[in-house]
Amino acid sequence: MYKSNEKNGKFSVLGLPVHLMSNYSQWLLECLRKDQGAHVITLNAEMTMQAEKNQFLAKIIQKADLVVPDGAGVVLYLRYLFRQTVKRCPGIDLAEKLLQEISQQQPETKIFFYGGATGVAVTAAEFWQHKTPNLKIIGTHSGYHSPEQEIKLQQTLTQLQPQLIFVGLGVPRQELWIAENRHLCPQAVWVGVGGSFDIWSGRKHRAPSWLANNNLEWLYRLYQEPWRWRRMLALPEFVLKAFIYRLTII
Ligand code: UDP
Repeated sequence: MYKSNEKNGKFSVLGLPVHLMSNYSQWLLECLRKDQGAHVITLNAEMTMQAEKNQFLAKIIQKADLVVPDGAGVVLYLRYLFRQTVKRCPGIDLAEKLLQEISQQQPETKIFFYGGATGVAVTAAEFWQHKTPNLKIIGTHSGYHSPEQEIKLQQTLTQLQPQLIFVGLGVPRQELWIAENRHLCPQAVWVGVGGSFDIWSGRKHRAPSWLANNNLEWLYRLYQEPWRWRRMLALPEFVLKAFIYRLTII
């Protein structure tokens, strides 16, 4: 569904698409206005490495309507290997901008939050309702539940037909879940938002801006969640593969 024009483009990062455009949230508001369903993926180095080992995830990323450069690795790859002036667009920033613009421009949009530990999505929704009372968050659901509750969630989504659905189950669970369940609300914009509900609910904190501005948000995450070190080995692996991949296609 994504279409290029001279202001944007589609690039390949290790064979996966990344769409560059000047204003992602306005593009998504347009999808909402037209009832044009979309699956949005925010791509980082870790996800590209997972996709190398997980064909299902790779296919889902290939087919996504919008793939945004979320991580520092992806941005540096595009900057140095394709000479593109790319700005990082972290998934949580995109989600926040989208909610703010919806409240200003399309407050009737029906929104649903799904994911996180018990109570986290509710608290995140309360945070947003307090900040922007005119947002229409019509439901929330935690990300840990039984198969029976999952069926109930699917029924709820079918019945409510939210137009914007944030799914925060972590990678790749959220991407696989969206691909499997997108048909329930075909006109909705579905966005995998990782741990955003944890941040909005106050359970976790984002890196200070001086770290984020220097592409070092990952270092802060490692400091906050040291158990991530193994997952983060994907970063040097990504850098190495990126150079090899580029050399082979020159
Ligand atoms: N999560 C969930 N259900 C699960 C596993 C994880 O709701 O079965 C939630 C978890 O509580 C957290 C989010 O998924 O809020 C994952 O956040 P993380 O920051 O790890 O996301 P990633 O780095 O993978 O984008």
